[in-house]
Amino acid sequence: MNFYILTLFPEMVVNGLNTSIIGRAAEAGLLRLEAINIRDYSANKHHKVDDYPYGGGAGMLMQAQPVYDAFQSVQERIGKKPRCIYVTPQGRTFSQADAKAFAKEEDLVILCGHYEGIDERVLEEVVTDYVSIGDYVLTGGELPAMVLVDAVSRMVPGVLGNQESGDFESFEGNLLEYPQYSRPEEWHGKKVPEVLLSGHHKNIEMWRRKQSVLRTKERRPDLLEKAELTEEEKGWAESGSHAKA
Ligand code: SAM
Repeated sequence: MNFYILTLFPEMVVNGLNTSIIGRAAEAGLLRLEAINIRDYSANKHHKVDDYPYGGGAGMLMQAQPVYDAFQSVQERIGKKPRCIYVTPQGRTFSQADAKAFAKEEDLVILCGHYEGIDERVLEEVVTDYVSIGDYVLTGGELPAMVLVDAVSRMVPGVLGNQESGDFESFEGNLLEYPQYSRPEEWHGKKVPEVLLSGHHKNIEMWRRKQSVLRTKERRPDLLEKAELTEEEKGWAESGSHAKA
């Protein structure tokens, strides 16, 4: 999968993504990350990329021309119009379902704004998806772009060592993941729940499912409303037994 990140701060994005799992996947050739400096496409002799917004108001706006030409350079190289995500607080909130859907693309362009944002006219021409990482305003799109690349990359087959770890985790079926424990069996006087030491796979599976339901009820009741639960599972949620039950 190829990511093309259009940004005014390419080094921020590259440095933020060349470590750990994502860096290794890029080295292994499963992903390719290219940060394209929008400033390189400025037609202005001083490489200016921003100007005042018409109608007044605070701050500067990224101009249409350099953004368009940077996007065109990618489009020309890959020979087709790619899916192009503008990361913006005005987009729909990014979700695990989006991460999975974006991971199916061969080429994905992520456009990062800065200052007060980007001239609307170029957005109308190149953007296919408007995506926000949450209801707050950041100074630029670079951190959101990194969030997207990380979450999407994990859904590309082969990027995670054990593919299962991408399938059975929080947000699958609108549930949060169950609590997990590792060695030692007792720490600070707290014991690992007995069932996890039993080796009884069916009971472990049932315990984990119950913990997922209870945890989601406690921390994300909005999510639980969308989960498909059996009558028994609905009963767990209603009784709200203690998480260690
Ligand atoms: N004036 C814009 C508004 O009110 O919608 C905010 C511009 S923000 C200061 C600068 C850039 O940061 C945006 O163009 C966008 O690319 C990025 N950005 C800021 N907050 C974001 C968020 N929550 N999710 C995604 N991108 C964000």
